[in-house]
Amino acid sequence: YSGKTEINLFSQEIKNIKVSDIMSVPVIVTENTSVYDAIVSLFLEDVGTIFVVSNGYLMGVVSRKDLLKATLGGNDINKVPVAMIMTRSPNIITIIKDDNALNAAIKIIDHEVDSLPVVEKIIKDEKEQLKIVGKVSKSNITKLLVEICKGGS
Ligand code: ADP
Repeated sequence: YSGKTEINLFSQEIKNIKVSDIMSVPVIVTENTSVYDAIVSLFLEDVGTIFVVSNGYLMGVVSRKDLLKATLGGNDINKVPVAMIMTRSPNIITIIKDDNALNAAIKIIDHEVDSLPVVEKIIKDEKEQLKIVGKVSKSNITKLLVEICKGGS
């Protein structure tokens, strides 16, 4: 192949892969969880981002840096709930499981975040709510890149 054909095949392959094919299990806490407990979850579950829910619906995102920042203020991190420090809905960048892997990668790069909650939209009391069904992170995208380049999928 010429280089251009190869790149076209590669981009076609990535567009044919769905978010549901590469997503992983999200780590989820409720909004009253303390910053301390969120940090413990981050280590125990070996993730960089935690999603926050209320009544099962997406409310926020807490990253490593959010948690680090919360430890600098001199507050008792056992008493500060993650709801105080999270990035809140509707400012959360999400993706649905039927979208493709390239769009997930584009969102991650354009919005400068490490991971996206994979969501299902639900209408509840005439309001749109989001249920979390997975997570796509830079790691999932990198794994996909390696799989494609090794020719095994
Ligand atoms: P880190 O803080 O470890 O560098 P990120 O780059 O993912 O991780 O997070 C940067 C900021 O963006 C944080 O304040 C975090 O709350 C927020 N953030 C992370 N993921 C998302 C997302 N999917 N949508 C909106 N904001 C996010």
